[in-house]
Amino acid sequence: MENIRCLIIGGGPAGYTAAIYAARADLSPVLYEGLQPGGQLTTTTDIENYPGFENGVSGQGLMDTMRAQAVRLGADVRRGAVTAADLSSRPFRIVVDGETELLADSLVIATGATAKYLGLPSEEKFRGMGVSACATCDGFFYRKKDVAVVGGGDTACEEASYLAGICNKVYMIVRRDVLRASQAMQERVMGTPNIEILWNCNTREVLGDMNGVNGVRIQRKDGGIFDIAVDGFFLAIGHHPNSELFSRWVNVDGEGYIITDGRTSRTNVEGVFAAGDVQDPLYRQAITAAASGCRAAMDAEKFLNSMKQN
Ligand code: NDP
Repeated sequence: MENIRCLIIGGGPAGYTAAIYAARADLSPVLYEGLQPGGQLTTTTDIENYPGFENGVSGQGLMDTMRAQAVRLGADVRRGAVTAADLSSRPFRIVVDGETELLADSLVIATGATAKYLGLPSEEKFRGMGVSACATCDGFFYRKKDVAVVGGGDTACEEASYLAGICNKVYMIVRRDVLRASQAMQERVMGTPNIEILWNCNTREVLGDMNGVNGVRIQRKDGGIFDIAVDGFFLAIGHHPNSELFSRWVNVDGEGYIITDGRTSRTNVEGVFAAGDVQDPLYRQAITAAASGCRAAMDAEKFLNSMKQN
């Protein structure tokens, strides 16, 4: 069975950065990219706040470059998703794609986070037929049409602004009478003429037929119910961390985020480190994920060196 010194799980900014640092530290890292190589950033358009790119960079472009950099430095970047893990003793036992078993002396968990859905049966029914959690992936299909975005955070505002540039009209369905988003994003959506915010509103049902979504049934906080006609329904209500495979061994908080020790990436299991959105409920930026990937590789190096000395 293959025994890997430093196994990194997750192909986003945290994982690739961990691979870059681990490769330079001669840890012979192997990285499994998971089901969405490049991670969440591959579903965004331009990133304007990643330092070093004066004119911005595309999410896909940034991820392709990070991956290529990791490979050039000697990281073994592989396609495949980790489907099971046993962290009860070292070396850790990992299963990839349900079939390949591996052993790992150290582990960096950088599995990111996944978009949340409301949990309505009608939402599930029309998933991929008008219901989406990624405006930048699917917005194109709604050119000159009317769409709705659920949520009032930065993601919802960003997605609504993006859609407003493509679609005829964008409704934002916001459950309170305020937006959670940053001031700048609030001003942007409020200043966009074809975005209408439906305050104090909750989605009761996604409406549609054989051809997909054709409306949304909405309930106001005061009880009133009304329908809007839309062709697309976009979720932007936050994310949940992809920690399920590891939470039997690794401590997580109430929302499932992996708990790390102070300023380090160390988890409660010696030799297991966490980086990126799977351990960060607060910042969730490409740059903070990359930085935590760096920390995880440095922590793994320190751990592996201490093992050698014992
Ligand atoms: P947030 O948690 O910030 O916002 C979630 C939004 O969805 C809130 O308005 C929340 O309402 C609403 N919501 C949650 N659950 C439901 C529900 N069941 N029904 C209806 N509405 C619901 O998530 P985001 O993904 O927007 O942002 C996450 C983090 O990433 C934030 O820190 C954000 O600042 C950051 N971010 C930064 C960006 C940037 O800097 N360019 C871009 C995108 C995100 P309520 O307010 O009532 O809880």
